[in-house]
Amino acid sequence: MTKSEEAKPTDFIRAIVADDLQTGKHARVVTRFPPEPNGYLHIGHAKSICLNFGIAEENPEGTCNLRFDDTNPTKEEPEYIQSIEGDVRWLGFDFEQRRYFASDYFEQIYTYAETLILAGKAYVCSLSADEIRAYRGTLTEPGRDSPYRNRSVEENLDLFRRMRAGEFPDGTHVLRARIDMTSPNINMRDPILYRIIHTSHHQTGNRWCIYPMYDYTHCISDALEGITHSLCTLEFEDHRPLYDWVLDQLDTPCHPRQIEFSRLSLEYTIMSKRWLNDLVVSRAVSGWDDPRMPTISGLRRRGYTPESIREFCHRIGITKAPNRVEMSLLENCLRDDLEERAPRAMAVLDPLRVVIENYPAEQEEMLTVPCHANHPEMGTRALGFSREVWIEHDDFREAAPAKFKRLALGGEVRLRNAYVIRCHQVIKDPATGAITELRCTYDPNTLNANPEGRKVKGVIHWVSIRHAVHNEVRLYDRLFLKANPGEDDDFKASLNPDSLRTLPACPMEASLANAEPGDHFQLERLGYFCIDSKDSAPGKPVLNRTVTLRDSWAKIEAKQ
Ligand code: ATP
Ligand code: MG
Repeated sequence: MTKSEEAKPTDFIRAIVADDLQTGKHARVVTRFPPEPNGYLHIGHAKSICLNFGIAEENPEGTCNLRFDDTNPTKEEPEYIQSIEGDVRWLGFDFEQRRYFASDYFEQIYTYAETLILAGKAYVCSLSADEIRAYRGTLTEPGRDSPYRNRSVEENLDLFRRMRAGEFPDGTHVLRARIDMTSPNINMRDPILYRIIHTSHHQTGNRWCIYPMYDYTHCISDALEGITHSLCTLEFEDHRPLYDWVLDQLDTPCHPRQIEFSRLSLEYTIMSKRWLNDLVVSRAVSGWDDPRMPTISGLRRRGYTPESIREFCHRIGITKAPNRVEMSLLENCLRDDLEERAPRAMAVLDPLRVVIENYPAEQEEMLTVPCHANHPEMGTRALGFSREVWIEHDDFREAAPAKFKRLALGGEVRLRNAYVIRCHQVIKDPATGAITELRCTYDPNTLNANPEGRKVKGVIHWVSIRHAVHNEVRLYDRLFLKANPGEDDDFKASLNPDSLRTLPACPMEASLANAEPGDHFQLERLGYFCIDSKDSAPGKPVLNRTVTLRDSWAKIEAKQ
């Protein structure tokens, strides 16, 4: 548990809940997380999950239901149900005894609709979809009554039952609430409660050909489950009068209180499932779990931990103010977590050959080095050392700037976990002038120590050429070039063409060959990496860079 998780979260919703428990309005709190199974969950959903399940966990006997809001059979898939369940479980929340479907209540919801008809509060409307839209009016103009608004109760009941019986094709009739076509709130202008859709449903099969609308279904489902606080995002604020209206007309077990909070939006990415689906379908990404996606499954495959996402949700808090959160906030939660849990290893992304001339060609050593300097319980690993090693091209400069702490011609540097080397010669490609090799010497007395008097400015990572294994490394950058890609209709125009860089065969220390999918590492000085769960094969891991370490040198260099 991280420090801030120990500190109990506080926000205006938790304050309302605490108050309701204290005054005895409710004996215990019951919340729900209500995803529609029409896509994979994203980090925005994690905010809602952490809020709803979090409040339940924090209060005695509190519970949180996972409820699939499955009123839209044409857009929903069992695949999405499975992924959503897997994501909620992975985040660390338990719903096994409390998993529901809105479709569990279809019969009850239907009965309530007949109740509304009998009370003169609902009618069957036979306008076309276009006509209904035209009659609805606008924000500035009131709507007009449907010519079918004054059908008799008997006619309405008869038509509604025949809708259910499958007598009418899609789009011919709808059931509407009879509220007020002149209401300033468009949601109250006789909203549709049921429509005809002749399609089978993943839970109810062919039992139904009429399906209730989300707004009508949601409040009833909440009431049937005994939800005390129905927490949703701000776009539902204008729907709250309808939520309350429906429950006020019906004799339901309770009347939950709807409370809205602001959605999470993150810089350089998009959240809407519709847009994410568009990225998947248009193959801009490899799937919902592409490591560049802001989906929970993408973040997981990228190497995010549940703890880091929960901590992020804790740090952003819950308010009513819409804002766009910086990506660095999410990344820092991850760094804080992986810093402690990720064992260290070494690989080289852009290899430059170093020949250590005074190290005998036939000699080699297996160095025993800690997996994590601060965590001896993580054990040690064997690191091969020999006459030739790879270092990063970027860790060498012929003429080094003043603050350069790596290897320079005539200078010294420590090879991490091994010896100090000195460079005395640079070999170049005669045609291009590119540096192809460094000739160095090593000091055999410097293994893992810094003898008195010796001033070595820097430490760099390396891989023994003889001992290296070669594996694919994937480096990710932001998916979008713009901080607010979602504000354009054509959000795909700002996709970052360089969001994925694949290095097919990077040399790395041999211990990495045994890494398992999902394992985390810090590749020294390069960042945190995670073994890809889809494309790795036994003995052939693919490494995803989860996040970089902070690179102070890049900043210094940028300033100069
Ligand atoms: P999207 O617009 O991304 O498709 P949605 O609201 O349609 O999301 P649902 O499956 O209906 O997706 O959402 C389930 C719950 O998650 C809802 O209570 C919704 O308010 C909440 N939620 C969705 N997106 C966010 C977000 N970005 N931040 C916080 N909560 C969110
Ligand atoms: Mg939705």
